[in-house]
Parts: sequence; C-alpha cells; structure tokens
Amino acid sequence: MKRLVQLALLLMASSGAATSSQAQAKPLAAGSDVQKIYDQLLPQIDRVPIYDNHSHATFPDDSDMDAQASPPDESSVIRLRDSNPEFVAGAKALFGYPYDDFQPEHAKWLIDKKKAAEKAGGTAYWNSILDKLNIETCLANRVALGPYLDPQRFHWVFFVDSFLFPLDNRDQTGKNPDMGVYIPLQEKVLKRYMQQENVSGLPADLSGYESFVRQTLADNQKKGGVAMKFEAAYFRSLYFSDPPRDKAAAIYAKFHAGGVPSNEEYRTFQDYVFRILIDEAGKLNLPVHFHSAVGIGDYFSLRNGNPLNLENVLRDPRYAKTKFVLIHGGYPYTLEMIWLTAAKNVYTDSSLVGYYVYPSELKNILKQWISLYPERIMFGSDAFPFNDAVGAEETFWLAARSARSAVAAALAELVAEGAFTEEKALELARMYLHDNAAHLYGGTK
Ligand SMILES: [Zn+2]
Repeated sequence: MKRLVQLALLLMASSGAATSSQAQAKPLAAGSDVQKIYDQLLPQIDRVPIYDNHSHATFPDDSDMDAQASPPDESSVIRLRDSNPEFVAGAKALFGYPYDDFQPEHAKWLIDKKKAAEKAGGTAYWNSILDKLNIETCLANRVALGPYLDPQRFHWVFFVDSFLFPLDNRDQTGKNPDMGVYIPLQEKVLKRYMQQENVSGLPADLSGYESFVRQTLADNQKKGGVAMKFEAAYFRSLYFSDPPRDKAAAIYAKFHAGGVPSNEEYRTFQDYVFRILIDEAGKLNLPVHFHSAVGIGDYFSLRNGNPLNLENVLRDPRYAKTKFVLIHGGYPYTLEMIWLTAAKNVYTDSSLVGYYVYPSELKNILKQWISLYPERIMFGSDAFPFNDAVGAEETFWLAARSARSAVAAALAELVAEGAFTEEKALELARMYLHDNAAHLYGGTK
C-alpha cells in the first residue's frame, strides 16, 4: 500500500514536471490569446503542403469528369451560388481576374483563359494551379484520368456503383427524375468496364460476374487507381444487408438475360455484389470511398445517406483489412462521423463541408474532430467546375483557403484553452492537411 502511494506521488511529480503549470485545459480562452496564436499559426499552416483526399480536377466540358450530373444553381447552398463574391476573389488570386463580378462580358475573360489552357494541352496548367495553392498531391475522382492531369500529382479514384446495376434498370430509372439521369450514366460506365475487360455480354452465372468485377478492380489499380468510390447514397440506402450467396446467384440467373427484378430482388443482389467489392478492396489494399453526406439533386435522402447506415459493415471483422474513407465528413452528421472513425480502418475528410459552410463553422467541426481522433481526418477540396467561368480552379482555392484558416482557428482556440502547445498544434495541422492521407495511400510523407 505504502509503495502504491509512493508510486502515485512519483507519477504526479513527474507529470507536473513534464508539462507546464497550465496543464489543465480550460473551457474559455483568455481574450486576446486566440487571435495572437491564430496569427502565429496561420503563416506556418500556409506552408504545409496539402494532400487533397477528394477532388474532381477537370475542365468543365470533359465528360470523364464524373459518373454523376451537376446541380442546378437554385438548389445550391448560398455559398456555392454564382453570386458568392469569394469566387471573384479566387479568380483574382489565381489569374489576376480584372473584374469584380461574373457578368457575362466579364466572365468571358476567364472562360477564354481556361479554354486556351485546355487547347494548349499538356499537364503544366493543372500542376500550376496546385502549385499556386501549395497542394502537393491530389486525388481525382473521374471515370478516367485525363491526359492533362500529371499522374505524379493527380491520383485516380475510380467509380464502382455501376457494378450494382447490371440488370434491367427500368424500375430503378423510373423512381424519380434524378434517378432517370443517374442510372443511364451508371450503365454507360459498366459498358466501358466490360469493353476494358473484353467482356461482350453479361457472364452466364454469378461466378462469372464476380470474376469480372474482381478483375476490373485489379486492372483499374494497375492503371493507377489508388481508391474506389461509391456514390451509392444517391441511389439507395447505405445500409447493406448480408444475403447468402445462393440467393444472389438465383436472382442473377433469373434476370441476367432479361426481365425486370423487383425492388427487393435488386436490393438483395446489390447487397451481395457490394460485399464482393469491399472484400476485393481489402485483398488489393485499395481504400473504399463513400459519398457520405447530403447530396445534390431534388430527391436526395438524408436518411439513406446517413453514414451510420454503414456501421454493420465498418465493424464487421471480415472487412478488418479494408480501409474505408467516408468522404464529406458525413455532413451534417459530423459528430456521428468522428465516432465511426474510432475503428482503426475508418477515415473521413472535410471535402464538400469545407465549402458548404463558412470557415467559422468548419472551425467548430475541425475542433471537435481534432479533439477526438486527429489521426483519422483528412483535407479534401471537392474541387468541381460549377460553370464555364467558376471552375475547379476557384473551388480548389476556396476549399484550401477555408480549410487552412479554419484549422488554424480551431487549433488557436485549443492552444489558448491549454489543451496542448503550439508545436503540437502544428503537428496536428500537418496530420489533417497532409500526413494522414500520405500515410493512408502510401505516398510521399
Ligand atoms: Zn465530390
């Protein structure tokens, strides 16, 4: 007993010596400290090269940019409407845009500049955009990597939802006008994969279809794919049941050559194929990305897209080797999201949310994430062309500026509250902006 007391005293003494006299974190920061610390942190955070976990780096007229369609302006959040003056600031910062609005006669200046860059060809243009923003490496979500993207800097993330839609999709397409746009695009991607694999028609049985799916993933990885991406939340619930193989085999046998499966039959088949995909992803060490947040369009279901739907899969020991990347922070379910990342193979990023909300709110979200699982969070731009004038270039700028300032503010508050030192704060900033992603994809460190 005496020894225990001595040991406790020793531990108390040593912890006191190891930290400052203000070792206990406070709920309020002293008034002026936050601004001062923020001013010290931000320039250092600006020098951290970014590893962007999620973008759609593209010229606006490139049909390979996505397996999806873009939103009408009026359904966008206020910050993403054409009227946002921040986009003008982005165009000025990147290109020296000489006007203060995007009136058509002014926007033409910017459109012409981008068209000329596209016509010139080569990879220098998009590399220069990354250089201007101190972005080192960038994942590009695309049907195929464009010839104008340098594979040293832009790493390919390919789409896999199309494997869930090989049967007659009449009933799926007819569900609502959004599905009427989305599903034919999925059919197109599946056809492309079949051509790539020299498969002339759907294989005769489920074993054949499974081989085709697994082989396509392996080949896409060989072509440079670093991750596969599900946009499934746009089409169905992210809850995937665990049907027995013979049930899926019977549905495939019945419908692969024609006939319209019922909703329940199609769902069961998809749930099975989904599990083939994530199983193969684990074997190939290919991280699996999910759109897990609100989405565009008129019929997006918040309930279906809630990342908690994935919990049975994320916590399934059969997929312990599969790395899951739940992109867009699960927004608006950002607190649920950070607790999903308590599992060692689950990650999230701040893409989309970083430009949906203003930096003051992104600061709150990042503060919560950093305070819980800082090794699981990554920066993502979700850079995307909104129209011919406001392109992925300006959204790269908006996302990078917003995230650097928001993470500096979150860390300044935590330092001022006594949670940790400025040195530790900078380490945490590097993890979020670069190191966690570099580690996950095994790239440069
Ligand atoms: Zn995206």
